[in-house]
Amino acid sequence: MQDFRYQRVNSIEDAIHALQQQPAAKFIGGGTNLLDLMKGDVEKPDYLIDITRLPLAQIRVDDNGLLIGALMRNSDVANHAHVRKHYPLLAQALVAGASPQLRNMATAGGNLLQRTRCGYFYDTAYAQCNKRLPGSGCAARAGIAHNHAIFGASEHCIAINPSDMSVALVALDASVRVQGPQGQRVIPLADFFRLPGETPHIDTNLQRDELIVAVELPPARYAQHSHYLKIRERSSYAFALVSVAAALDISGDKINDARIALGGVAHKPWRLNALEDALRGNTLSVLNDDALIALAVRDAQPSPQNAYKISLVRTATRRALAIAGAVT
Ligand code: SF4
Repeated sequence: MQDFRYQRVNSIEDAIHALQQQPAAKFIGGGTNLLDLMKGDVEKPDYLIDITRLPLAQIRVDDNGLLIGALMRNSDVANHAHVRKHYPLLAQALVAGASPQLRNMATAGGNLLQRTRCGYFYDTAYAQCNKRLPGSGCAARAGIAHNHAIFGASEHCIAINPSDMSVALVALDASVRVQGPQGQRVIPLADFFRLPGETPHIDTNLQRDELIVAVELPPARYAQHSHYLKIRERSSYAFALVSVAAALDISGDKINDARIALGGVAHKPWRLNALEDALRGNTLSVLNDDALIALAVRDAQPSPQNAYKISLVRTATRRALAIAGAVT
């Protein structure tokens, strides 16, 4: 682990100023991912800016919806009465992610910035990893890649985003509020994450001198009909092989609207727009339609190692929608 200097800041402005002064600095909040990466010499910041004293650990509910401060702990968000009642999809995704101990430390902002769990990214003995060493190649392409992407990958990287929370947030049309030297801006979460393309070392569209200050969700519409389904190798504690965040707006047996996102299958939460369009205006009976559910994997490009995810996505999507729609 490389030596680093440390500074604790008490205001957002001081945090951004400190980052501008230290080009190789990193913000640290819960540290549940960053410290692991530093111990493994994957990340080597020479300066840490401790943001845990910033006034960003609040939840606010108003006519615009829900605002979750970037420093809210995952466990506090998951257990918040308003979240549990009006955004159960988010609460379920948070509880499905990590262990209770990690949820007690991890923050909402940090959750969005956690890095892929590709083994080659974490193991510095491997010289080839475009995400860790841009331009070095991708060891996973010819190596162990059973848990890698089936959507949106590039020849430069086939890694997946490991977050559960982000999958629910994308399905719920959340946005990220960030602050930089020029003030604040709001980025739809679907545009916050990037596909790997030729620059897999850049995970998000957060600028170098910006700080996440909050996650914002529109007013709740899907509390009665939503479900987060996570399929993993150990039910006690593991990242998703495939997960599905499904939310339906239903009147009688008519589907007025649908929101569906997948986790564990791409470099970012993967929204199923074609399936949503096909469900909208239909009756609940179409949730048993094989041809319609197959839209979930229409754009998939699996490798021989992870082709199993195709049937997993189909089955998990069907089941999550059935539970969300209370179809038996
Ligand atoms: Fe690195 Fe991405 Fe390839 Fe994994 S898939 S080895 S993270 S470039």
